[in-house]
Amino acid sequence: MAGRDVIGLVLLFSVGLFTNLSTAAESLILVRDGRPASLIVTNGRPSLGQQIAAAELQEHLRIMSGATLPIVKESDLPADSSQTLILIGQGNLTSKVHGVVTKHLEPETFIVRTSANALILAGEDGGNSRDQRTGTLWAVYDFLQDQLGCRWIWPGETGRYVPRRETIRVSDLNVVETPQIKVRSIRLLAQDKHRVGYEKEGLGRWLDLGKTYDQISEDERVWTRRMRMGRSFRLSYGHAFTDWWETYHRSDPDVFAMQPDGKRRPRKTKQPDFVKMCVSNPRLWELQLDPLEKAAAKGSRGLWLNACENDGSGGFCVCSRCRAWDATPNARLDALPQVEDGSEIDGPEIDRVLPESLSDRYGRWFNELAVRAKAADPEARLVAYAYGRYRAPPTKLQHIEPNVWIGYIGFNAYPRPEAYRKMSTEEWFGWSRLGSTVFLRSNSLFYLGEGAPYVASQQVAEDLRFQIDNGLRATDYDALQGYWAATGPTYYVLARMLWDTQADVDRLLDEFYESFGPMKQVVKEYYDGWETRTVALGNNEKFFQLKRAERIRAYPLIYSQSLLDGAAAVLARGTPLLASATEAQRERFENVRLGLEHARLMVAALEDGKTSTGPAGEKLMQFRRRIADRNVLNVYWTISKEMRYRVFD
Ligand SMILES: [Zn+2]
Repeated sequence: MAGRDVIGLVLLFSVGLFTNLSTAAESLILVRDGRPASLIVTNGRPSLGQQIAAAELQEHLRIMSGATLPIVKESDLPADSSQTLILIGQGNLTSKVHGVVTKHLEPETFIVRTSANALILAGEDGGNSRDQRTGTLWAVYDFLQDQLGCRWIWPGETGRYVPRRETIRVSDLNVVETPQIKVRSIRLLAQDKHRVGYEKEGLGRWLDLGKTYDQISEDERVWTRRMRMGRSFRLSYGHAFTDWWETYHRSDPDVFAMQPDGKRRPRKTKQPDFVKMCVSNPRLWELQLDPLEKAAAKGSRGLWLNACENDGSGGFCVCSRCRAWDATPNARLDALPQVEDGSEIDGPEIDRVLPESLSDRYGRWFNELAVRAKAADPEARLVAYAYGRYRAPPTKLQHIEPNVWIGYIGFNAYPRPEAYRKMSTEEWFGWSRLGSTVFLRSNSLFYLGEGAPYVASQQVAEDLRFQIDNGLRATDYDALQGYWAATGPTYYVLARMLWDTQADVDRLLDEFYESFGPMKQVVKEYYDGWETRTVALGNNEKFFQLKRAERIRAYPLIYSQSLLDGAAAVLARGTPLLASATEAQRERFENVRLGLEHARLMVAALEDGKTSTGPAGEKLMQFRRRIADRNVLNVYWTISKEMRYRVFD
């Protein structure tokens, strides 16, 4: 549990326990025999987060019991009301009657507490309109999840599990949680900004980019919110110099990397956003620091300086001053296990005049900037990547300034070869030993399967546990491909652990499987089987040497007919159990089945060579259209990716 402080009789895990204690003297009744027995109360001017919190609570209690609890403002309550109240967020009642004040809590901290005929669900809701924190909303989700047994195993209705209960009763509660991971971010792939790209690629030919897309977009957003993705503070970064060539190449050509021909320029003229910087040039630092120094002079504190080099594996500076900062000899990157991490998107290139690892030069640059930023704003912090040619820790440099945050772009491979895990953990230790705060900027979800069953829950959880135990304060995963029926248990475990950092992986998996009711064991066996197969691939050297496009093309070999038949046979054992399942459980199970069907059709189409043409390709596309709105998988992203990797016409 994240910083959990438990006082008195608290029901942490078991929903079963909950009903056993129904005779406890102090219990509050929220709903009795399917009828409202309490009111949901907000302050007079609830924030957006508090409004959502009240609405979410109302909706889930209604699905659970059939009763719709009224939502009222505290100013509209009759003075002599003796009703049981559910107080949402900070208000006069919470502070004056119950002594709960959320304003001074640590960011995003929440309280779930019973007190004199009231249930208080409140949290720290600070920040500004652009960057609102929503502790109260986390209180509601925590209550629904940990006290009432609600689960959101994937987006949309089929992923929402709400146990039925005619009477909803809570015993004495006093839960206080503060997230250990302050920035919990997973990038999404079904939002409005992606629709623009999908439109440009012509996906409208096959799929509805209107209402259907709107719906899965909303489902995805709501799911990440229910899983409490959010942040205690804003961590701004990303490749920092993508527009610098355009802006500065005339006025300050010397801040750009010198190429082997002696010219300062991007390696490829057509990719000015990939231009590298001459990081040892004090003029570059001046330009970088200028906005921060101006803001600091006006009194701003806690500013961030973005020193994330541009993307791409080539074009680094060969000037003698940058060269002098390199460690020679340094880490031999080619001796380390190679895994696609996105750094070679402008094509592999060896700058033969340069050492393999450029981390000493980059580490020194971070230090020069960090010291100067701190002189202007004592609370200033710098954020930079450890990525590609500067991913391994420096070998000569003795320290990294303590206000440097390093976004480590590692732990990218699942399943993983053991050597890769060893390298990632050692590199993580290396950067933190030098003094920096290391956070995770992982591309792992981007490479986690291609739309057929692909499960690595245990490995993902094990690495996350390592990171949590070694100082992880922020994550940024690129990106949620939305393979819900193929990779669902892994996504669920990851999202749950980002809040509940000490949660046991098997218990989380149980939560996932329990939402299938009588088919629980069948579904567990199905995904366990795929996890065994997936993990085995991690030890297959041939598989690991394949680039992504080749991997997709190899699916007919990886997902053989007999393997798919075996998985179908496991699921078939669920068919007789459907009769005793609820409709929601049947629909959920149907998604799993459709996920397998998708794999079969995709393999058949790939056997033809392409996924969109020919009879098999057409069948696949028809099927994708049919499942587009069900959250079986994000078919928009799938097709877009297949176009990018040219397994699609
Ligand atoms: Zn240089």
